Amino acid sequence: MTHVKEDILGLMPNEIIKELADMGEQPFRGKQVVNWLYKGINSFGAMTNLPKSTRQKLESKYKIGSLKQIDRQKSEKGDTIKYLYLLADNNIIECVVMKYAYGNTLCLSTQVGCRMGCSFCASTKEGLVRNLEVGEMVAQLLIANSDIGRAEDRGIRNIVLMGSGEPLDNYQNVIKFMRLVHHPDVFNISYRNITLSTCGLVPKMKELSQEDIPITLSISLHAPNDEIRRKIMPVASAYSVDEIVQAGKYYFEKTGRRVTFEYSLIHRLNDSEENARELAYRLKDFSCHVNVIPINEIEGTPYRRSSEYRIESFINTLKSLGLQVTRRRELGQDIGGACGQLKRGYLDNVEI
Ligand code: SAH
Repeated sequence: MTHVKEDILGLMPNEIIKELADMGEQPFRGKQVVNWLYKGINSFGAMTNLPKSTRQKLESKYKIGSLKQIDRQKSEKGDTIKYLYLLADNNIIECVVMKYAYGNTLCLSTQVGCRMGCSFCASTKEGLVRNLEVGEMVAQLLIANSDIGRAEDRGIRNIVLMGSGEPLDNYQNVIKFMRLVHHPDVFNISYRNITLSTCGLVPKMKELSQEDIPITLSISLHAPNDEIRRKIMPVASAYSVDEIVQAGKYYFEKTGRRVTFEYSLIHRLNDSEENARELAYRLKDFSCHVNVIPINEIEGTPYRRSSEYRIESFINTLKSLGLQVTRRRELGQDIGGACGQLKRGYLDNVEI
């Protein structure tokens, strides 16, 4: 039987330190390993201040990441870079680096595929394949960081869990990942700079409220009522808009972090003035934020992007009713904007 090595990138610093101590190494060795890991090295052999015997012990039990970059595309404007990675079991995931004035943002995947079934989304077409391991999420950050760090001398400052997958459907791994990247000896990324996007798994949203991880919670609402929501999101049959808004309020109460509602505008499905009014009514008395996104048209779906006139009218109606609204900047249109698109494009063209 072949021995499957554990990915050391999935361990917290204290777990690594304990592991080295259990191997009979001196106390400072664990800390040395931790110091090396996030510098972008990919073998224990490169940890030159460790004795050879220590490196060998680590080598026999662990691997350092398992992602292979198989594609990298930069948008014409240079504001977006998309990466496609091959996992050890030949699955493929993608992540995207977006350049904003306030720092580079990494949009990463939490699952291979997704089982939520939103009908406008490219990532869920084949259902869920599997959850990503903690180390596989860390590796996305590590590789992107060393790529842009080399090119521009600036690392990733913000993380958004908005690639493929439903983060709250891979709860334990995603929580550990967030604690890990926040750790001062790992990436030291502030919880404020992490955004988790969910389609609204109410019980998990409540659980997250109590983790003492004050990240930004982003809720994919996309509809002002259950009737419209059920047409595009199967999860709407499990949890109502009211329950989701309540869970958002609970998150705000517990963490003090303002919640964002994502609203993808789809031509004549959820983009009327009446829809905007109903949404504003649902969210009144809640100090939240609405992020409006014109839908990215996915081949094989009937959904079309709203006209510029309807997009602006929708936003203006929400604003006139007192909501705080932004329109999401659309980056990287020329390299396949929406989540799942790069991978789809790749799978359509290449046989693996
Ligand atoms: N599963 C999570 C996170 C992944 S998707 C969630 O549902 O929030 C990140 C965001 O992109 C979600 O708001 C999702 O609804 C949205 N999205 C997916 N496909 C899209 C498309 N074709 N156009 C616009 N937004 C899309």
